[in-house]
Amino acid sequence: MHSPFPVFDGHNDTLLRLQMSGGNDQVSRFLNGEEAGNIDLQKARAGGLAGGLCAAYVPSPGMAKDANGDFLAPSQAEALTKTMSMMRLLIDIERASQGALTICRTGEDLRHSLEQESFAAVFHIEGAEAVAADLDALYVLYEAGLRTLGPVWSRPNIFAYGVPFRFQSSPDIGPGLTESGKDLIRACNELGIMIDLSHMNEQGFWDIAKLSNAPLVASHSNAHVLCPHSRNLTDRQLDAIKDTGGLVGINFGVLFMREDGVKNAQTDIGLIARHAAYVAERIGVDHVALGSDFDGTTIPAALKDAAGLPRLIDALRSAGFNDEDLMKISHLNWISVLERSWAA
Ligand code: ZN
Repeated sequence: MHSPFPVFDGHNDTLLRLQMSGGNDQVSRFLNGEEAGNIDLQKARAGGLAGGLCAAYVPSPGMAKDANGDFLAPSQAEALTKTMSMMRLLIDIERASQGALTICRTGEDLRHSLEQESFAAVFHIEGAEAVAADLDALYVLYEAGLRTLGPVWSRPNIFAYGVPFRFQSSPDIGPGLTESGKDLIRACNELGIMIDLSHMNEQGFWDIAKLSNAPLVASHSNAHVLCPHSRNLTDRQLDAIKDTGGLVGINFGVLFMREDGVKNAQTDIGLIARHAAYVAERIGVDHVALGSDFDGTTIPAALKDAAGLPRLIDALRSAGFNDEDLMKISHLNWISVLERSWAA
């Protein structure tokens, strides 16, 4: 690794980007690198990206909205088919990689991959539409390697009500977990699947806080005080995350960083560090990590892609973090919380 601080990152949409770009060369484009996109193996190596949560996210059909202005969820059949396709892509990449990428299922897998400099991929689903109320698919996907799950993306489904994208807005929009949602949380606890709160609304967040016996984790969200977007975390939510030994992965998306909520790629990387510093000051550096949202949103042009991560490490250092802090933020905190979440 070029970086003394290997970065394990809480959220990327690289599988979806590859799937949507089509073609039969998705595996080789990931392994050999390409111009497009924020993450491929070559950019990861150049920037010290050691691994991360690789999301399967199924877009809303035609980006259509319902009468409330909420995005419509895909059907279970469509979501399961597309989720299987993204999981298959990750499996194909691992098989073709000759050890350069490992799908990690245990803490030992994570540590071994980081030591061997094999990209440590953890399979995640963002919005559990692929799973029906009987939860059958959850148990089967777990056996295939699923280790983290967000019950919702920013739209309602049978489990909960995802927080709509609103600026300026509190995250307190809509109802909490459904009965099926409660079953899902209990099953995730039982299996040892980490529950991701990033797209939950506030009621759903508190319902999970009450029910779950695992650390509270928001894989890619920022501080609401600095950017009043509905996707961000209030101070009260941050405090609850701290109380359970959980963590916040700081999102690099400009929409979730800027106090004016403007989608402008000409945004200083230092603003990512500012959100990290705020969360660290509020709840402690043990609860701060990174959740890039690479390949899923507009990030600062100066960061550009995974190869630019050393510039972010510099910005974090300028914000006052020392080497010990940077080890925690860059990867140790993620490994710790995943291990504790997986201890079913
Ligand atoms: Zn997301």
